[in-house]
Amino acid sequence: MENNRCYVAPDRKTVLDEKTKDLYQYHQLSVWANVQNTLEFFESSSGLGRRISWAFEGNRLTIVPHAGNGENAYYDRASKSLQLYWFESDKGTVFTCLSSDIVNHEFGHAVLDGLRPHYYESVGAQTAAFTSSSAISPPS
Ligand SMILES: [Zn+2]
Repeated sequence: MENNRCYVAPDRKTVLDEKTKDLYQYHQLSVWANVQNTLEFFESSSGLGRRISWAFEGNRLTIVPHAGNGENAYYDRASKSLQLYWFESDKGTVFTCLSSDIVNHEFGHAVLDGLRPHYYESVGAQTAAFTSSSAISPPS
C-alpha cells in the first residue's frame, strides 16, 4: 500500500495515526503538527499577519517531546526549546507533548518572549504573571 499522503515512522511502513499513538514518532509528529498549526495561526492575517521572531539567535525552536520524567513542561530561551515531560498517573502514563493545551501554553511563552523579549528582565508582578515559567521568571 502506498502511503504517500500520510506520515510514517522511520520504517516507512507504519502509518502514524491514532492507532500508533504509543510510538515516540507519533509523539514527535503530534507536537510538531500542534506547534506548526499554532505558528501558522499567529503568522496568518487572523493573527499577527507577519513572521514571528524568536527572542534568541537562529530560526529554530527545538521541541523535546520526552524531556524527562515529571509533572512539568516549559519554554526555555537558553536552550531555544520547549521541554515537555511525562509522568505516571492513576490512568497511566501522561505525556504532556500530547496535550494541545500544554503544548500551546508553552509555545505561547516562546511567542511572547519573541514579541516582548524585555519582559524577561521585568520585575513587575503583572509582567511576571505573563511570563512565569521556570525559564523566564523574573529575578526574585
Ligand atoms: Zn506558563
